[in-house]
Amino acid sequence: MTNNSARKILLIEDNLGDVRLLSEMFKDEGPNNIELTHVDCVGVAENYLSSNLPHIILLDLGLPDAQGLDAIRRVRAAAPHIPLVVLTGLNDESMAVQALKEGAQDYLIKGQIEPRGLLRALRYAIERKVAEEALFVEKGLAQLTLNCIGDAIACTDRTGNISFLNIAAQVMTGWTLREAAGRPAEEIFLIVDATSREPMPAPVEMSATRNRAVRLPPNCILVRRDGVEVPIEDTIAAIYDREGRPAGAVIVFRDVSAARAMALQITHLAEHDFLTGLPNRMLLNDRIALAIASAIRHKHQVALLFLDLDGFKHINDSLGHPAGDKLLQSVARRLGTCVSVLDTVSRQGGDEFVVLLARVGPADQVATTARKMLEAVAGPHMIDGDDLHVTTSIGISLYPDDGRDAETLIKNADTAMFQAKENGRQIYQFFEPDMNVRAVERQSTEESLRRALQRNEFKLHYQPKVDIQTGDITGAEALIRWTHPLKGPMLPDQFIPIAEECGLILPITRWVLREACAQAQAWVAAGLPLMTMAVNISAMDFRAESFLESVFSIIDETGFDPKFLELELTERVLMRRTGSTEFVLKALKERGIRLAVDDFGTGYSSLSYLRAFPIDAIKIDQSFIRQISIAPDDVSIVIAMIDMGRNLKLRVVAEGVETEEELAFLREHHCDEVQGFLFSRAVPPERFARLLEARSFQFAPS
Ligand code: C2E
Ligand code: MG
Ligand code: MG
Repeated sequence: MTNNSARKILLIEDNLGDVRLLSEMFKDEGPNNIELTHVDCVGVAENYLSSNLPHIILLDLGLPDAQGLDAIRRVRAAAPHIPLVVLTGLNDESMAVQALKEGAQDYLIKGQIEPRGLLRALRYAIERKVAEEALFVEKGLAQLTLNCIGDAIACTDRTGNISFLNIAAQVMTGWTLREAAGRPAEEIFLIVDATSREPMPAPVEMSATRNRAVRLPPNCILVRRDGVEVPIEDTIAAIYDREGRPAGAVIVFRDVSAARAMALQITHLAEHDFLTGLPNRMLLNDRIALAIASAIRHKHQVALLFLDLDGFKHINDSLGHPAGDKLLQSVARRLGTCVSVLDTVSRQGGDEFVVLLARVGPADQVATTARKMLEAVAGPHMIDGDDLHVTTSIGISLYPDDGRDAETLIKNADTAMFQAKENGRQIYQFFEPDMNVRAVERQSTEESLRRALQRNEFKLHYQPKVDIQTGDITGAEALIRWTHPLKGPMLPDQFIPIAEECGLILPITRWVLREACAQAQAWVAAGLPLMTMAVNISAMDFRAESFLESVFSIIDETGFDPKFLELELTERVLMRRTGSTEFVLKALKERGIRLAVDDFGTGYSSLSYLRAFPIDAIKIDQSFIRQISIAPDDVSIVIAMIDMGRNLKLRVVAEGVETEEELAFLREHHCDEVQGFLFSRAVPPERFARLLEARSFQFAPS
């Protein structure tokens, strides 16, 4: 025998003849190699095994105290890890097979045993037992590992019945291994398609027919034993036996609820506007494509409404972004109430919304919806305890007349919206082909403005401000003038808003400031009696980080005394009571620069800023001054404005004074200064110098 062969053998046999025969055979092996212990019944063997560990047991199946399977079971119970070889009688093969099933490693048929065969049988029995034990340990380890894995793992046998479930699989299916073992896999894994609800094919078949690991299609749902549905993702691989026949399958699957919820959320985020939750441009484009496809089939029209809030930029500038955001959310909600579930309200960004009416009949139906939207938006919006008012302008394009794809339809609706703004705001406007020409013009204005800066095409004109008591010129307001190389003179109202939109206002204002300060400095140096030079500042200028630095460096450069510089800001700039507004105003004030509120009365109702900020003057907007001539009975508001300004110790300037009547009224009510065509239009610098030389205007006696 080899080294690892048995040395200690326990023989359980009551037939002494057989005992002798076997002993003889072992003796041939050499007395030092084999240590044979003999007992004649199971009872004694059990006793012996309780304190001894033989290498192998030879068991006769016909003993006085136990026979057949009973004997095997008792010995196995007493020594489960010791290899067992049974001795059976001739023609008792069926018993031998049973013995193997019960855990015996081998059987020997009495009467056929010969020494070499006996020893070989014993050696093999021991080797088999060692291998079996190792396998057992390995299997235990494997199961332990599988149970530690977070993924659920299930195995089926060749007939498709469950043979193993790890703990995760038991939790996910709601079946214990004991209950599931031997049942068809389809019963334990009811997997359906999330959308069609169709059951998926049996996993083993799937992998076996394709002869490779397969994945379930995305969107699969496992219906748990209790009916709860769990979205899963899985891989199925077939197991083959040595002959290459399918022997079962391994199914690995995992709960992807969290991942799928995340994916849904990501898709939602990608397709919706963060602020309002409305579909964004991307989703809108999809919906337009769908609507067009359906319109082709059903021969109807599709309408796109492009909305842009009027003056939203100013609300944002003056009240701050948080209030602006809330206003946009409120507008979004209102728009939603104007359309049906088939339609889409989307936000393009900023204060622009696009509404898709997926199925429209006659154009007046679209007009009705547009009117509804105008009204819905115009109603007061309660934001942070204040009623905010905002209006919108709507441009409309129709499929198929105004475009056959999303891009063209949106572009044309946008163009129509621009036209609506130009035609007076808070109206809707259907697209017309010649509008595109105007849109192109606007674009070209922007380009021309850029060139104008480079080529120095701007000029400043100056309009005098006049002391209402003495008629003396107190100062000048610098007003920009531009002669377009092709189109001729352009009004500031035609290009300043465009410059504000595209950011060109910043360099333009710097140019105006530098030019105005240099001019004023030249007049002062020439001994002309100039008191102030006023320059208009846009909201965008004021918000720019570089603003203060620009103003100060221009003052330094030109040597102009900041005491004589006045900046005209609109109410909208000042309405925004933020720390930075206050900081900038104070910094300007500290350098001695004066501050005036331009177009006073056209902004917002809250006037608390007049007290909060270091303002020197208000300029009553010319629309109120015009009231004096148009509706002399209704001038209480002008009187109230003048009184309020005086009470706050501010200089009150009237803008746009055109008639003697207006002048007389203003003088009567103690306005301080006047400005308007009655005295002079804005004039080129040479002419303004002559006005300064004359020093004052002669008034008609009051
Ligand atoms: P604003 O600052 O309120 O300037 C007064 C406007 O009223 C000027 O128009 C002026 O010519 C006009 N005006 C003065 N007196 C009368 C009058 O008696 N009757 C009438 N009907 N109009 C009168 P303008 O020069 O066309 O400027 C319009 C607006 O464009 C200005 O309003 C200002 O907001 C803006 N603007 C002009 N120049 C500049 C500039 O250099 N920078 C900036 N940011 N804005 C400017
Ligand atoms: Mg002004
Ligand atoms: Mg004004």
